[in-house]
Amino acid sequence: PSETLPQMIDASVTRYGRTPALEFFGAVTSYRELGEQIERAAEGLRRLGVKKGDRVAIVLPNCPQHVVAFYAALRLGAIVIEHNPLYTARELRHQFEDHGARVAIAWDKTFDTLAGFPDDLKLDRIVSVDITEALPFGKRLALKLPVKKARESRAQLTATPRSAHPLTWAKLLDHRRVSRKVAGPALDDVALLQYTSGTTGTPKGAVLTHANLRANAAQGRAWVPGLLDGEETFYGVLPLFHAYGMTLCLTFAMSIGAKLVLFPKFDLGLVTDAARTSPPTFLPAVPPIYDQLARAASRGTIDLSSVRFAISGAMSLPVATVTRWEEATGGLLVEGYGMTESSPVALGNPIGPSRRPGTVGVPFPSTEIRVVDPATLEDLPIGEPGELLIRGPQVFQGYWGRPGDTAATLLAGGWLRSGDIATVSSDGFVTIVDRLKEIIITGGFNVSPTEVEDALGSHPDVESAAVVALPRDSGGEEVAAAVVLRSGATLDVEALRDYCRTRLAAYKVPRRIVAVDDLPRSLIGKVLRREVRERLLAAQ
Ligand code: ATP
Ligand code: MG
Repeated sequence: PSETLPQMIDASVTRYGRTPALEFFGAVTSYRELGEQIERAAEGLRRLGVKKGDRVAIVLPNCPQHVVAFYAALRLGAIVIEHNPLYTARELRHQFEDHGARVAIAWDKTFDTLAGFPDDLKLDRIVSVDITEALPFGKRLALKLPVKKARESRAQLTATPRSAHPLTWAKLLDHRRVSRKVAGPALDDVALLQYTSGTTGTPKGAVLTHANLRANAAQGRAWVPGLLDGEETFYGVLPLFHAYGMTLCLTFAMSIGAKLVLFPKFDLGLVTDAARTSPPTFLPAVPPIYDQLARAASRGTIDLSSVRFAISGAMSLPVATVTRWEEATGGLLVEGYGMTESSPVALGNPIGPSRRPGTVGVPFPSTEIRVVDPATLEDLPIGEPGELLIRGPQVFQGYWGRPGDTAATLLAGGWLRSGDIATVSSDGFVTIVDRLKEIIITGGFNVSPTEVEDALGSHPDVESAAVVALPRDSGGEEVAAAVVLRSGATLDVEALRDYCRTRLAAYKVPRRIVAVDDLPRSLIGKVLRREVRERLLAAQ
């Protein structure tokens, strides 16, 4: 497509007018109203001095204001930077030091944190958003978010240094629409600095242009058969501040005139309530969410038969989850693959009977892949495991302020190194084996932690498992597992190892198995093996 994101949303506003664009606890915003709010927020930001190329930080959970803020900043040609509002003060400060945004649109519960940043940070304007203002009357008490801190009083707000000019959301929008004379961005301008999940290290800011993001939405459109423009209902249970939720819900859904039902967090009760009045047709999510929903659907407490498109990504989707979902809802659950650096979607299963559980499918439209030896970067024969490389219009421009990481990741010719080990079948289906960094080398053999986790996870007593390498006394590494047991089960290490022996080669069987209460996970639900390893080491 040759249009930028503001042009895309403008086209949807014109085309879908009175059609619902957003729904939040039953409160509906039409496309026309959304367009109006975007224009007014853009004027508010312009009056704060935001102009083309400036960076605007968004620190919000999923809420209507998040969508408005995103498009308002883009309308001015500014660069949006998304943040996880549940990050600690330290994590947020790191990101603000890294990107140096001057203006933030932030959840009021993070205001104290942002206002308290050291003076040498560039941030000097904070728009504080009370997301409960978007709730319909009478719904005020329905919302419980993980932050327990009491709301700050206005007096406290004005006492903090950066609140010399405290601004509310209502005040930001208290303007006429921005003048048409204010030029928007060009296709190759940067639209977004999207931080990676930080699974393998510190999150890195991926630089994505309008062309990148618009391409990924269009690729999604071409990939999904039978979409009904202006009639789909997307469930926004994934965080909009993560690449996956951002593309599926903020750009893809809005490009086809869908109604986006926003959830500030995934919660079975909230989804069950919403499904009664606004049945979902399109549900992008991650395996733990599908698992929970499928169990509820098979108990009969939620009806998910309306879901025509259930698209899983971000982590490997166990085949058992696919079976559970499909039996419980009667619909298909298909897996795709992506990374922040590819806007994010790069591969997907065909949505239909030819999809293949256990694989991440085939390259997205206009996307090419290679499988190479990670040491030499030479192509490997079909079927051999190697590092997956990706090329396409959705591939990013590099990491913000990290030329070394960019050079190591973005190869000549536009190939993106995924850091993931994959195999390709002779008919082109890709299977992700594991992350290159997390492959365990024991006694000269390579062990994929995912394969061992799947074996452990298939045992009836095991709810979930994380497998990591621990140093061996005699030098080298050994396979170790942390397992979360199902309630009522007790750990019998020898029995579990015997069970693994029936499914895995001997060198893959974990030497050490430890029961833990829970596994550390990222906000989108990925198991953080790095932290599991640290915990196991500390417990030794
Ligand atoms: P960081 O790059 O900061 O360490 P991250 O790689 O987890 O974090 P993301 O960009 O959110 O950050 O995730 C991309 C990664 O997620 C991929 O490189 C891959 O390892 C994993 N992934 C995505 N989809 C799948 C999938 N379907 N199956 C297995 N792994 C997947
Ligand atoms: Mg990564």
